[in-house]
Amino acid sequence: MSENKQELQVAALKNGTVIDHIPSEKLFTVVSLLGLEKMDSNITIGFNLKSKKLGKKGIIKIADKYFDDEEINRISVVAPHVKLNIIRDYEVVEKKEVQMPEDLKGIVKCANPKCITNNEPMATLFHVIDKENCIIKCHYCEKEQKKEDITII
Ligand SMILES: [Zn+2]
Repeated sequence: MSENKQELQVAALKNGTVIDHIPSEKLFTVVSLLGLEKMDSNITIGFNLKSKKLGKKGIIKIADKYFDDEEINRISVVAPHVKLNIIRDYEVVEKKEVQMPEDLKGIVKCANPKCITNNEPMATLFHVIDKENCIIKCHYCEKEQKKEDITII
């Protein structure tokens, strides 16, 4: 536990969620995918912190907020190795990793310009066909996209 506390000491959190090991260049995408700018919670964002594993990393602390899996798994598309610490009364009571969901709804833009989702006001829908390599397939036009080609809406 002492290691956890050292890691989390940037600003102690009484209750809430710490999202750690976010690649720095993905930090603001994660912020927007989680809709943090619309939240009333007390949010601390650390940017370009030193990390042994990543070189530079981002960290987000959200007070009094616990995400459900569906919310948090949205970020797997941009930051699949993120770690979550669930904090209650200053202690880490649970650690979670993000999981690639089965479907991605309204998160990723279809790369096919002729796809109906690029021509009608509707949410995109992708099925994850390869979780390991993050390959997704558009539900409507069936175009496959790799992680490198993904554009977040
Ligand atoms: Zn499509």
